Amino acid sequence: MTLGVRMVMLGRQGAGKGTQCVRLSRHYVVPHISTGDMLRAAVREGTELGLKAAEIMSDGGLVPDDLMIGIVEERLGGNGTTARGYVLDGFPRTVGQAEALAEITSARPLDVVVDLDVAKAVVLERLAGRRVCDDCAANYSVVAPPKYGWVCDNCGGDVVQREDDTPAAIEKRLAAYESETAPLIAWYEQRGLLEVVDGLGTAAEVTDRLLSAIDARRGS
Ligand code: ADP
Repeated sequence: MTLGVRMVMLGRQGAGKGTQCVRLSRHYVVPHISTGDMLRAAVREGTELGLKAAEIMSDGGLVPDDLMIGIVEERLGGNGTTARGYVLDGFPRTVGQAEALAEITSARPLDVVVDLDVAKAVVLERLAGRRVCDDCAANYSVVAPPKYGWVCDNCGGDVVQREDDTPAAIEKRLAAYESETAPLIAWYEQRGLLEVVDGLGTAAEVTDRLLSAIDARRGS
């Protein structure tokens, strides 16, 4: 039985969360809920949320907790698509968000929180070379580009450098990770939910490690 999981993925920017969360969501047949992707879509569409978030994001800052909690609460509760579970990517990012998530999920708590562990020196190099589809958010890099120029293999969208993958914004995002998000590792460990998984190696190797760690927790 492989269907279903309720999980959060933690990890530094560039640790490979996006790539791995897509693989995990396909494996367990649950939605991949990425708050970064949701915000970027809102910015592209020019919604009220997008207008509030655009500048904060390109600057590498964090969108306020109350706004983020509202978005996630609506997405998890809203339309029945999360009945079997979800892979949550990019949320929670602060202790306040983690407390709110515990409330939101109190009826059906998380199975596991994974810390996808990659050292800062490695993620700095990965982020500099990262390219993403500005339509479906697929990840590429200068060393692993799409097949045909900078056209997305999945959807034909433009593959570009993210606006917040500039050196100054990268520095700010990593600093915010250390001060706001890294404390969640201990927070979830105290609650018995944490699995640390080494994020070095090929994408397939990392997926195998993740599946073993997650399967050991599911339904337990
Ligand atoms: P990264 O982890 O590389 O910063 P994401 O795609 O997860 O990329 O997020 C991009 C940006 O969206 C963040 O830098 C932040 O401004 C905003 N964001 C996403 N999720 C959250 C969140 N849970 N809380 C606050 N801001 C968020």
